[in-house]
Amino acid sequence: MRKGLDHFLPVLTERIPELAPLALRATALRPRPGTPTARDSSVGGPVLWPADEPWPHCEQPGHAVMGGETRPAGRVPLVPVVQLFARDVPELRFPEGKDLLQLLWCTLIHPREQDAPLPALHWRAEADVLARGVLRDIPRPAEGEYEDEFLPTPPCTVSPVVSVDHPNQDLPEDLRARVLELDQGFDRYPELACVLETKAGGYPAWIQPPDWPVCDCGERMEHLLSVTGDEHVDMDMGDGGGVYVFLCRRCPGFPVAHRHDCH
Ligand SMILES: [Zn+2]
Ligand SMILES: [Zn+2]
Repeated sequence: MRKGLDHFLPVLTERIPELAPLALRATALRPRPGTPTARDSSVGGPVLWPADEPWPHCEQPGHAVMGGETRPAGRVPLVPVVQLFARDVPELRFPEGKDLLQLLWCTLIHPREQDAPLPALHWRAEADVLARGVLRDIPRPAEGEYEDEFLPTPPCTVSPVVSVDHPNQDLPEDLRARVLELDQGFDRYPELACVLETKAGGYPAWIQPPDWPVCDCGERMEHLLSVTGDEHVDMDMGDGGGVYVFLCRRCPGFPVAHRHDCH
C-alpha cells in the first residue's frame, strides 16, 4: 500500500520534525494460509488452551446476523482470531510473566457493541498451559452460530514485520495543515501514515473519525491489535473494515475495549 510513496515520509519528517515523536512502532502480522498448530502464532488457527479451562461461550442476548435478523440468546462458542507468542512479536509488550496473547471473539453481530463481534483477550504463560495439558478439541460454532464476515478463514501462519506508524486522522490540526501544504493536494499522507492491516501496536488506521476508548481511570486506551481481512484472510468486516482492540496497562487486569471501523 505504501509502495512508491516511501520517499515522501522522510521528506515530511525532515520538514515537520514534530511528526517524529508521534511515531509508533507496529508489527504487521502478514498472515498467509498454512497449517498452524496450537504452538504457533496464527490468525484463525488453533490456540493453546488449557484442557482444564472451559472453552468460552458468548451469552449476550440479541445476537444479530447480517441483514438484521435477530437470533435468540444462546451459548455460542467463541472462535480463535489471533494467537501471538512473545518470541514472534518482540516489539509487543507482554505483562510480567506472560508470553502468549490470544484474541478470541464471538463472530455474531452485537447491536449493543457497534454491530461488532465481541472480543475477549487472554494473556497466558505458554509453560503454564503445557503443564496443565492442552485442549484437543476446540468447539466450533454450528450453522447459524457464526457470521462469515468475522470468521477468519483459512487458518494462517504469520510472518511479522516491524514498521513505523504515524497517526492518520489523529494528526493534530496544525500539523495536518502543514502536511497538506507539503503534500500539495495529493492526499498521500493518510496512506503513508499507517495501514489498515492485521497488526499489533501502532495506530488504528481509522476509516471513520477516530473514536479512541477511554478507560474508567480516565486515560485514553492503547491500541493493541487491529484485525482485518485481506487477500489471504477472508473477512469482509463491513465492506473492508477492521476491528481494533485497545487496553489500559495502568489498571489492574488490563481492561480492554474494542471498536469496529468500516466504510
Ligand atoms: Zn456474541
Ligand atoms: Zn485504566
